[in-house]
Amino acid sequence: SARSALVIKSTGSWYTLRDDASGQTVTCRIRGNLRLKGSRTTNPVVVGDRVEYEQPEGATGVVTKILPRRNYIIRRASNLSKESHIIAANVDQAFLVVSLFLPSTNCEFIDRFLVTAEAYRIPVTLLLNKCDLYATDALQDAQTEFLKIYRSAGYEVIELSATQQTGIDAFKKMLPGKTSLLSGNSGVGKSTLIRAIDPSLDIRIGAVSASSSKGKHTTTFSEMYPLAGGGYLIDTPGIKGFGLIDIENDEICRYFPDLFRYAPRCGYYNCTHTHEPACAVREALRAGEIGLSRYESYLKLLDDDQKYRK
Ligand code: GDP
Ligand code: ZN
Repeated sequence: SARSALVIKSTGSWYTLRDDASGQTVTCRIRGNLRLKGSRTTNPVVVGDRVEYEQPEGATGVVTKILPRRNYIIRRASNLSKESHIIAANVDQAFLVVSLFLPSTNCEFIDRFLVTAEAYRIPVTLLLNKCDLYATDALQDAQTEFLKIYRSAGYEVIELSATQQTGIDAFKKMLPGKTSLLSGNSGVGKSTLIRAIDPSLDIRIGAVSASSSKGKHTTTFSEMYPLAGGGYLIDTPGIKGFGLIDIENDEICRYFPDLFRYAPRCGYYNCTHTHEPACAVREALRAGEIGLSRYESYLKLLDDDQKYRK
């Protein structure tokens, strides 16, 4: 008879489930026909999926059914490919770790992440790490500008120092009872942060990273970790950014809340905010009410979309 479970790990051929009733971990294969349904994705069953499975006495378990997903985050396999890879399903919230120095996170990278999350209706909190390093005038200005741009766009930004252990509690208290995706470019302090919130987690994740860097697999799979205080953390090793899937040019602006709020005042109903006269978005940009980097990211995404559709 079928039992229900949560998928906490996948290698592409093997799936680790956490049984809802027993809380035990079970390793399964998936039934062949599940592959057909997700034919345009490279992975039909993903971390975060709620599934049904069967495990006959003494045999390997088999996932028989994927329950409907609340949401999922997808990534194009490559710019040219129609195939895509699902990073995770049923995500409650996402955290993006960023840094302004050593390394400085690229604004376009942040904005792509935010647009994708907006499109999937996944709330994002930005974790501005390494705040102990921003004491010089130039970096203090950069920090003020960063906070202004993203907070006025409506995003929560938590100022942190993973090494000094400041701001950690504000992050930690958002985690219980939720499935949270944690992302960030290498070097921003993701591992240090994970260690600060739950040392046992760091050891488990460290083991995965060490073994996957030795392996020859090119696709990295996300993994989900139960947190000591309840909830799950999804780590996305090796995933640099999300691809934008199926977002039409005329929709992109609505995923930039700080730009979109001016759009109703544009002179043209179909204003693209690129060249039209009486464009309220560009007017707000000139008035300094919209960050230039945000507008530039918007233009880049418009361009991208055209490339994809050729
Ligand atoms: P990851 O690649 O994102 O996992 O980054 P790591 O956690 O490995 O950190 C990269 C480097 O940044 C290490 O040398 C850390 O000690 C350092 N680091 C991480 N967090 C902070 C921080 O808050 N302040 C400072 N000054 N350095 C940090
Ligand atoms: Zn406009």
